[in-house]
Amino acid sequence: MTKHPKDHRIRTMSTAERRDHIGLLQVYTGDGKGKTTAALGLSLRALGAGLRVAFLQLFKGALPSSELALVCRFGSDFWLKRFARELTPYSLGRGEPTDEDRQVAAEAWATAREVILSGAWDLVVLDEVNNLLHAALIPIPDCLASLLQRPRYVDVVCTGRGAPQQLLDVADLVTEMRCLKHPFASGVPARPGIDC
Ligand code: ATP
Ligand code: MG
Repeated sequence: MTKHPKDHRIRTMSTAERRDHIGLLQVYTGDGKGKTTAALGLSLRALGAGLRVAFLQLFKGALPSSELALVCRFGSDFWLKRFARELTPYSLGRGEPTDEDRQVAAEAWATAREVILSGAWDLVVLDEVNNLLHAALIPIPDCLASLLQRPRYVDVVCTGRGAPQQLLDVADLVTEMRCLKHPFASGVPARPGIDC
């Protein structure tokens, strides 16, 4: 096991230290707020320990989101990539996916697969991948095969609503965020820095 960093300066782990890390498969799902937030919090902790983080936002549409600015703060240890070029009704939760939605999902998954298998990143976040698996925009067998073939030191976090049972079955950690209350229901819009 890698040792906990002794000081609080940002450091990058050596290749040997990184290979010593035990990578697990985590799933954050459910209808409550906190899935993407938890993955971002985990990314911060990982960066603090000197791990390298790839944060792939597979289907966020083109809505602005504060986490995009984080790349400027962490340099080459943090890579954040978004795939959708523009908002589509489906990415806003309305209607059926179009051919363009399918195309974006296929491109996003091709990159995600490469990133997971490359071993270049210690923590790979697949933000909103669960929704795409649920909607069959990413083939579940192909996704599971890649997750299971990843280098053993790579942690992967899958976020999003409706994670399929097959993913839950192979995951090491599953957390369900359950909505008990959300200010959206009282008309409070998404707040920059808090919700987006
Ligand atoms: P967050 O990004 O805030 O951690 P999330 O990843 O758990 O939320 P998503 O399903 O990705 O939730 O939803 C994206 C957006 O919808 C976010 O702005 C989030 O705050 C908001 N949201 C999350 N849960 C709910 C809910 N139960 N009702 C209304 N809006 C929600
Ligand atoms: Mg989310």
